[in-house]
Amino acid sequence: MSKNIADIIIVGAGLSGLMTAWRCLDEHPELTVMVIEASDKIAGDHTWSFNYSDILPHLQDWIKPFIAYQWDSYEVKFPKRERKLDITYCTGNSETLRNCVKPHIESGRLQVKLNSRVIDVQSDHVILSNEQKLTAKCVLDARGFNSNDNVFLGYQKFVGHVIKTKTPHGLERPIIMDATVEQLGGYRFVYCLPFSDTEMLVEDTYYTDGPELKSQEVDARIKDYIRDNLKLTDYDVTRRETGVLPITLAVDETYGTDVSGEKTEPARLGMTGGYYHAVTGYSLPEAVKSANVVCDMIEKNKPDFAAAVLHEMAYHRVDHYHEENFLRLLNRMLFRAAKPAERYKVLQRFYGLSQDLIERFYRNRLTKGDKLRILIGKPPVPVTKALQNLSEKAFIAREREKRDST
Ligand SMILES: Cc1cc2nc3c(=O)[nH]c(=O)nc-3n(C[C@H](O)[C@H](O)[C@H](O)COP(=O)(O)OP(=O)(O)OC[C@H]3O[C@@H](n4cnc5c(N)ncnc54)[C@H](O)[C@@H]3O)c2cc1C
Repeated sequence: MSKNIADIIIVGAGLSGLMTAWRCLDEHPELTVMVIEASDKIAGDHTWSFNYSDILPHLQDWIKPFIAYQWDSYEVKFPKRERKLDITYCTGNSETLRNCVKPHIESGRLQVKLNSRVIDVQSDHVILSNEQKLTAKCVLDARGFNSNDNVFLGYQKFVGHVIKTKTPHGLERPIIMDATVEQLGGYRFVYCLPFSDTEMLVEDTYYTDGPELKSQEVDARIKDYIRDNLKLTDYDVTRRETGVLPITLAVDETYGTDVSGEKTEPARLGMTGGYYHAVTGYSLPEAVKSANVVCDMIEKNKPDFAAAVLHEMAYHRVDHYHEENFLRLLNRMLFRAAKPAERYKVLQRFYGLSQDLIERFYRNRLTKGDKLRILIGKPPVPVTKALQNLSEKAFIAREREKRDST
């Protein structure tokens, strides 16, 4: 039997892989971890935003070093509603994430293997593209999103420009959704994050049925928005990002609750495990939650924690599938029941609900009463269309029929 290279191998040094490494190494001074990354750096080149209240209360202090920017409120704008919400909003980035794991790299307990593509991932070993085999007590797969025939998606796609203005831009707090813009192909809104008096991210976002992104056209619309809505003309674009995030409409139950691979398959973290908020496609809070599950399992089962981690993470995935039932239903209403040009009305209505409910929605901790409150009242979608999309099973059967006939 080959010697373990570390206690844990994590494949993929992105958000979820590094969050888990950071959490486990912070809590377990005897632990060693290796992250294997296909690209030439860890943590990529990203920003990740989240509501502070999305983070489990006992981890809110721990996450602080990751936070690069924090605001104590934000705004939303719709044709018939403008609102300020007193919800703390945070953004971390690749640099802060790298800083969080840096002490562990320097101590030698976190080994980083860059420019190394893994081609096979098993629960106790990986094979690299140069055929090298590396073994560990436990392997975690954090390779990012991959699509799957059992998961039915809509998309959130966006282009963002970070701009640097010559004089203060005057935006005090984030605008999380400005949906007063022209609605094109689905639900469209602009997202503005003022990093400082003279630096801001302006992102044009589309919730649409397909993943295609005509990014040059979007670039031009961002320019128009900056000129017409933010009234800014004197600025440089210092960074540009694009993204296409999965928005889950339905998951086949047999797949969502399958734990048959728990003994042989690696535990999954992040987007590859389906750990993202079904409506927003955002995965940071789930990455923190999974990191904590792995960390707790190590604590309870030291030194032979591998089987417990695999078992717990298999069931964590099933819990996540069940917890997202209602969010997937909302997505089916948004994408299949509402007419594309009127999808914004679903969100306009939602943002009229109580702030506590809105926070619970993003935390995915809605109560039965919250769910009723979201669904009752004058529906912004046609009732017959809404009823057709209630059943996830029937939806999947229809979608599969459509796929088979094309
Ligand atoms: C532009 C953009 C903005 C986003 N903004 C937010 C946000 O504000 N808030 C939020 O919560 N979410 C956001 N998301 C969504 C989500 O949180 C991110 O995509 C997040 O980075 C996903 O984390 P992950 O660990 O699953 O995957 P990633 O962070 O993508 O990490 C996967 C890593 O695995 C590596 N890898 C892949 N295959 C292999 C292989 N075979 N061998 C070795 N390494 C491999 C990749 O190079 C990568 O470094 C955003 C996504 C994008 C694209």
